[in-house]
Amino acid sequence: MEYNGVIFDAHTHAIDANGLDMLVEIETVFGINQALLICHSQEIMSYAERTYPGRFIYAKYFSGSSRFTEGVGPMLKEIATLKSEGYHLAKMQSAPMMRGRASASPESLRLDSNEMACFFDALIDEGVPFMLHLSDPDTYYTINYADRRYYTSKERDLAELEGVIARYPSLRFQIAHFAAQPEIHRLENLARWFETYPNFNVDTGSARWMTRELSKDSRKARSFLIKYSDRLHFGTDCVAFTPDRGYYEGRHLALRLLLETDVRNEPLPFTDADTAETGGTFINGHNLPDSVLKRIYWENAERFFSDYL
Ligand SMILES: [Zn+2]
Repeated sequence: MEYNGVIFDAHTHAIDANGLDMLVEIETVFGINQALLICHSQEIMSYAERTYPGRFIYAKYFSGSSRFTEGVGPMLKEIATLKSEGYHLAKMQSAPMMRGRASASPESLRLDSNEMACFFDALIDEGVPFMLHLSDPDTYYTINYADRRYYTSKERDLAELEGVIARYPSLRFQIAHFAAQPEIHRLENLARWFETYPNFNVDTGSARWMTRELSKDSRKARSFLIKYSDRLHFGTDCVAFTPDRGYYEGRHLALRLLLETDVRNEPLPFTDADTAETGGTFINGHNLPDSVLKRIYWENAERFFSDYL
């Protein structure tokens, strides 16, 4: 790798202790000494605080399906206790599959609706940033989201996401997965969002999704990464759930190859289920300048999370 400065991983998950130990070991090898950790239980958060003091800022996990089954009330209680439990922000996983899981129709409890305003107002009152995953790769809409009882189109989901960002200008968002728009044909729309709404940054979480799409047109992707390099947070989306070293290494390696090197048609170092049947996923590196890498790897997250870092 070409870059030797400090790196903050703005998108990691903790499920179990063995997995977390391995994640930390691999991140250290890759020069990452601080990270945002989405905790999937109070136990794993206590373990992380005890074992790795000062290493993490903590995101409390909110399921995107619970509002359909239990209503908004319990979520408001979770927000009220978030800071006293030691968390710094909230993360919601509201991918379309959450609607399927709860058998919720496409229009019920949209995050940009009036019914959900109390949730966002509570976050604003607490003064915490909000990390949001809404929408998914184009490939999922073809492969997984065919059931019209729960799913419509990616355009509809992106409209909901834009609605949220537009509706709450005083809330600071980290929108996961490049705001679900790393596909080359979507970069223009993401650019419009960046120009219109100053209250959000995006992360590079999901090594396979980002490397697959941002490798498809090197000229367009590279100039986008440089132009909006002050809005991007490096994130691996590693989920600490397994002691398998190769799982963590592959994701770190893939993103670093994409951002730092000039490799051409380098096979993704692990299997991409979305392209396994169609020839695989290949990385074309963008060889980004050091000043750009520094922003993506450290400076943007440091500014965004300045209250906690
Ligand atoms: Zn994630």
